[in-house]
Parts: sequence; C-alpha cells; structure tokens
Amino acid sequence: MASLTLKNLAHSYHPNPGEDTDFALKEVNHTWEDGRAYALLGPSGCGKTTLLNIISGLLTPTSGHVLFDNKDVTASSTAERNIAQVFQFPVVYDTMTVGQNLAFPLRNRGMEVDYISQRVQRIAQMIGLEGDLHKKARGLTSDLKQKISLGRGMVRDDVNAILFDEPLTVIDPHLKWELRTQLKSLHREFGHTMIYVTHDQTEALTFAEKVVVMYDGRVVQIGTPKELFETPAHVFVGYFIGSPGMNFIPVSVAGRKANINGETINLNHDYGDPQGDVLLGIRPEFVRLTKGDGLPVQINHIQDVGRHKFVNATVFDVEINIAAGEGFEIESDMTRVEFDPSNISIFCDDWRINAEAVDQGTGAMT
Ligand code: ATP
Repeated sequence: MASLTLKNLAHSYHPNPGEDTDFALKEVNHTWEDGRAYALLGPSGCGKTTLLNIISGLLTPTSGHVLFDNKDVTASSTAERNIAQVFQFPVVYDTMTVGQNLAFPLRNRGMEVDYISQRVQRIAQMIGLEGDLHKKARGLTSDLKQKISLGRGMVRDDVNAILFDEPLTVIDPHLKWELRTQLKSLHREFGHTMIYVTHDQTEALTFAEKVVVMYDGRVVQIGTPKELFETPAHVFVGYFIGSPGMNFIPVSVAGRKANINGETINLNHDYGDPQGDVLLGIRPEFVRLTKGDGLPVQINHIQDVGRHKFVNATVFDVEINIAAGEGFEIESDMTRVEFDPSNISIFCDDWRINAEAVDQGTGAMT
C-alpha cells in the first residue's frame, strides 16, 4: 500500500492549453493517505476519469507529478505502478472457473500454491462467491461476473492502491448495498488504499472515509461525509450532497447579520463585509415552518415520503425545500420560516466563508 501525492497536477486535452477552461483537470495538490478509502465523486464530465487515468498511468498529465510514497511515478507505466483496477464492466476469463479467475493475478506473479488457495478462499468468502468457485465464468450473470472482477481487484495484498471506476453500474440495485458493505469490510480487513469513482452520492458516502468532490474539472472539497454535509466548501457540494440538496438564498451580509428584502437573519458568526455574490446556504433539515417569526414563505407543495415530509416553498421568489420531521404538523397559518442559525453557511462567489477563521480575524475561506 502507498500514499498517493498529486503535486501541481493538471490536465488538458488541448494541444496548447491557455485558458482555465481548456483544462479537464484544473490544478490539484493533495496527498491521499496510505490505507484510506476515498471516493471520487462528481457529475458526468467533471474530470473523474481523467484524474483516475493519470493515477493509473493510462494518461500522462499536461503538468505536475504523481508520487506513490514520495516516489515520482509520473513517467511510469501502469504495470510499473503496481495497482489493481476494477472497471465499470466485468473483465473475466470466460473459459476459466470463478476460482481460476480470482487466482489469476496471484498465479501471474508466481505466488505459492498454498497462499493462492488460502487467499482465493478468503476473498470468495467475503464477497459471497465461495459456492461458485468451481463454476465456469461463462454463463454467469453480469452481477456474478462483476463480483469476480471485484474479487480479482482485491486478491493481491501487495498492490500500491486499488482503483474502482464506477464498479457497481451493472449490479442489480438490491445487490449494490450488499457489495458496498462487503467492499467496506474488505477494506477494514486488508487496509488497501482505495479510490472509488462514482457519480452516485450514496455510493460515495457509504463506501468512503473521505470523499473527493469534483466539479467542472476542479477538486472542490475533500472531506468526511459529515464535513460535506455540515460545512460544504463550495455551493456545488451543498447542492450535490443531500437529497434534496442545500437551499441557497441571495443575501447581503454585514457582520453577524444577513439581509434579504429588508428582513434580517441573525448569524452565529461575524462574516465581516463580504463583497461579491453572497448566498446564505441552509439544508432543508434545518428550515422550520412557523406561525410567527422568520421570513415570509409561500408553500407550493408537500410531498410525504414516510419519515419526512418535503415541503417545496418560495421565499422572496427563491424556491426552497424544507424537510419537516415525523410528527410535525403543517398548518395552514404557518406562513413563515426560520433557519437554525448554527447550521447556516455563508458563501461568497461560490466558496464558503470559514466563519470560525473570520471570527479569529483571518478572513480565510475554507
Ligand atoms: P463520466 O462520469 O461521464 O465518465 P468524468 O467525470 O469521468 O465523466 P472525464 O471523462 O474525465 O469526466 O471528462 C472530463 C472532460 O474532459 C469532459 O469535458 C470530457 O468531454 C473531456 N474529455 C475526456 N476525455 C477526452 C479526450 N480523450 N479528448 C478530449 N476531451 C476529453
């Protein structure tokens, strides 16, 4: 296993890139720690595959370096990087049995027969293939074939990292949960450095210890699921994480007060005097319908989803969502909304203002 360092890494598919917009991957600097499980999360076209291909050595970056345990591997081939990869679609040898498929990466490296057998048994047991080891891969369902691919990706214990590129796409929805849980246990047991690419927030948040969120070619935040939920660094993270995502309301801010259409919202921190496009961000879970205080609201529609009611409403021409918890009665004279001040974020030109830092007088953004 190894730590992965991305140093001034950027990539453009243009022959002579100039503008920022020419870059499919804008400059990133970060160390991904040894033995951690990361998810690379973002919408289609945001640069996930570009970054993964640079890490795996399929693509040479326009600038910057990739280091495995501080060794520069930017010019090394995929084979030299000693990584395992699991792709979106199963890659299995149809004429081999499940067991032979799982053993293949170990046989290829001349491992001892006893070790191979013990390792194959262990992996098969952990991903629920122990009853299928003697079956030929041909004719198995795509779910089972993808399980073999996952198993083959995990079978070596000497790889620097395992890269998963949307590995559960072909998996039946009810099996996805099971496989994600199994992957998590495999990670806990073997401690591989894992990078799991997905556009699905549920997959990312349930699998990874840290989620790397990408948007428009840029890594906008690397954080735990809790950090992404509570303190999204960029409006995209607020919007993309959570269902529905964070509400954003244009405001002006001065110190500890936000202002919208002459109404004041008290803030828990001093945000100074931010200049630019200022947005107040609040998750639907922290908006409360009231009868007396708060901003005037007009309810558009209510959706009952069992544990929650989602209320779609309008505050000064801005559409917002409210998650009303179980047992909360929505009454017709609830014409105002309040925001829980401890869960308000303020964004300036798309980036969250780090209120704690501003309180301390540094004014830094997160
Ligand atoms: P998806 O989830 O759809 O695979 P992604 O997040 O993996 O998307 P990339 O495939 O890395 O995104 O693409 C990032 C950007 O680079 C996109 O605008 C894409 O059109 C562009 N791109 C990707 N590969 C090439 C290529 N070989 N030549 C030119 N442009 C490319």
